[in-house]
Amino acid sequence: MTEATANIGVVGLAVMGSNLARNLASREGNTVAVYNRTWARTESLIEEHPEAEFVQAKSVEEFAASLQKPRTAIIMVQAGRGTDAVIDQLTQVFEPGDIIVDGGNALFTDTIRREQAVSAKGLHFVGAGISGGEEGALNGPSIMPGGSPESYETLGPILKSIAAVAEGEPCVTHIGTDGAGHFVKMIHNGIEYADMQLIAEAYDLLRNSAGLTPAEIADVFTEWNRGELESYLIEITAEVLRQVDARTGKPLVDVILDQAGSKGTGVWTVQTALNLGVPVSGIAEAVFARALSSKPAQRAAASELPGPSTPARVEDRDAFVEDVRRALYASKIIAYSQGFDAIAAGADEYGWNIDLGSVAKIWRGGCIIRAVFLNRITDAYTEQPDLVSLVTAPYFTEAVAGEQDSWRRVVAHAATSGIPTPAFSSSLAYYDGLRAKRLPAAVVQGQRDFFGAHTYKRVDAEGTYHTLWSGDR
Ligand code: NAP
Repeated sequence: MTEATANIGVVGLAVMGSNLARNLASREGNTVAVYNRTWARTESLIEEHPEAEFVQAKSVEEFAASLQKPRTAIIMVQAGRGTDAVIDQLTQVFEPGDIIVDGGNALFTDTIRREQAVSAKGLHFVGAGISGGEEGALNGPSIMPGGSPESYETLGPILKSIAAVAEGEPCVTHIGTDGAGHFVKMIHNGIEYADMQLIAEAYDLLRNSAGLTPAEIADVFTEWNRGELESYLIEITAEVLRQVDARTGKPLVDVILDQAGSKGTGVWTVQTALNLGVPVSGIAEAVFARALSSKPAQRAAASELPGPSTPARVEDRDAFVEDVRRALYASKIIAYSQGFDAIAAGADEYGWNIDLGSVAKIWRGGCIIRAVFLNRITDAYTEQPDLVSLVTAPYFTEAVAGEQDSWRRVVAHAATSGIPTPAFSSSLAYYDGLRAKRLPAAVVQGQRDFFGAHTYKRVDAEGTYHTLWSGDR
């Protein structure tokens, strides 16, 4: 009979699961049981990493028997049906009080559904967003667990032991109940899309308007990485741009096909935000920009369409580079502000008590959007927990005010030069929309009342009004 020696188990030993299992095994006090549907994966992990002293299981029954009670198992399998299949197997061999953690990229509504089904059987189910890719899983990811506070009492110390550490603090916190963790991970990925698109647009402007080479832009980004834009994404973009293709000797970026892929979390973010009525325009433009890039037939058919007659030329290169840096920072503030608005709206809708400042804190290490800038977000929510919009916090208001002349020049330049900057431009439009004292929404209301008698409200009196328009007569 198998002895219950392991305090934690991992199911699913592809790249993420095996790295997470190794990370767990490397921490003092952990004994890790491992199980995978296909035995060969378990076997090779155990062979390649004898130092981890994994407890191997050939069946889900053996896996359950190897875990101390209450059993805790982290599932790292293909999201969707794979996750449902494993949950189904585990619930058959686990007992009330045991904890099943889904560390995959699940859609938060699936997590809500699974939590209901699993907790109905007396077990705990925790949907935990894990960010940082394979390197993060091995050396310390940012972890966003949902589920019951009770399960976090057991799980919290284990997750803290494997999470990334930023400024002395582990990048993990209990986000909220049921699907809150996966919801926040989804928005994290949406913000990641926006951040990546903004950096790509900055590259495009520097390349095509300022005439810089990829290597020169890499140097600019390295310089930017020493200031307020310091982040993992700026750092790796510099490395991407510095890379030379071994086969052709050209900058690698020039031989990479310009069609961006995606795995779906950006689309989920935008769909969810649309349902919640939150304008995440920066994230949406980033998702659409990837979609546009991946339409070769349409792009080929449109490639000879006329552009501006005289593309704008940059006279002062250094001033333009500085303008782009400032425009990037302002647009980034908007993208994060929109992302945090979406988290606040999700919390309202689903009844989660999410501490937005803590969310920014656990993104400072391990994850793809890790950045110094996140400290400013934590500060903003600490100073004003009921902040209605990040961009209205004093630090960010001042920052955007300082950058906005550059931002406007860059967006205007992009428009007259025919350089597509959907994320820069939409972020500026959002900012101007948000700060407008009067919006043309009044005209839209008039139109709606005209053709559909949808009624409108007045600025000077209570109640709902309908006008007998001339078209009605
Ligand atoms: P993956 O390619 O998404 O999935 C492969 C794993 O899922 C294998 O262990 C496979 O088992 C198992 N699996 C698939 N269907 C199954 C089923 N019906 N029953 C049992 N097991 C099944 O693996 P991954 O890239 O390591 O990612 C794991 C999870 O982490 C995913 O949810 C992913 O979205 C998430 N994630 C990935 C990253 C990343 O950078 N890759 C980052 C964050 C989160 P077999 O060996 O038997 O086929």
